[in-house]
Amino acid sequence: MTPPQSPPAGAVGGRALTETVARPRAAAIPEGYLTMSGLRERGWTDAMIRDYLGDPDATRPNPRYWSAAPMKLYLADRAATAEATPEWARRKALGDRRRAAGEAVAARKRAETQALARQLAADLVATLAFPADPRQAAIDAYNDWHSTACTCPGWHELGFCDKHAAASDPPEFLHRITVNHARHELPGYDRADNRLAGRVGHQDAHEILRAAVNAAIEAKLAARPPVTPKEAAEARRMDIP
Ligand SMILES: [Zn+2]
Repeated sequence: MTPPQSPPAGAVGGRALTETVARPRAAAIPEGYLTMSGLRERGWTDAMIRDYLGDPDATRPNPRYWSAAPMKLYLADRAATAEATPEWARRKALGDRRRAAGEAVAARKRAETQALARQLAADLVATLAFPADPRQAAIDAYNDWHSTACTCPGWHELGFCDKHAAASDPPEFLHRITVNHARHELPGYDRADNRLAGRVGHQDAHEILRAAVNAAIEAKLAARPPVTPKEAAEARRMDIP
């Protein structure tokens, strides 16, 4: 069977066929045959399939993509015969042990990465020092950063760039920009975040670092005495060298 050179009946008119266009009908797996994934479900590795079964007994066009390699089919009887041998069972047990060991190593590395993220967060937060009025500092930084002219990716779409922050904004918004500002001002945050890159489980670890630092900032913010506008103005004046 050769792949059609034009879209199948029912396809959107003239749309080019690519490997991302699914076949309209999945090829049925004939009775008495197993696919590679069917064999894997029974405990076969690809190496075991190659070593014990060799070439497939039949092939079918790939059910998902026109251009993909044909689906390999193996006679279920041949697979069952191989599975009944002690050698196959030993090989499967070896494969199971290797897989379990690999998963244990990956789990250990993920745990190490997460522990590193928590340690980095703790080290960073130890150096955390707020300006006299963290909220006003965040408002000022926000207004310095965003202008009607800027189009910050991820922020512009939310309407952040057009906005002018003020102390009269909703508390939830002010809290968020205050925490974010304090985190961005932490010396070494980016360096710490970069130390997680490329490690096993780093996707989660970046989030752990951010969340742990945010939580510590929020705790320290909550522990601060409230800053009245008058006190804040006074504190800012004192900051000027
Ligand atoms: Zn902006």
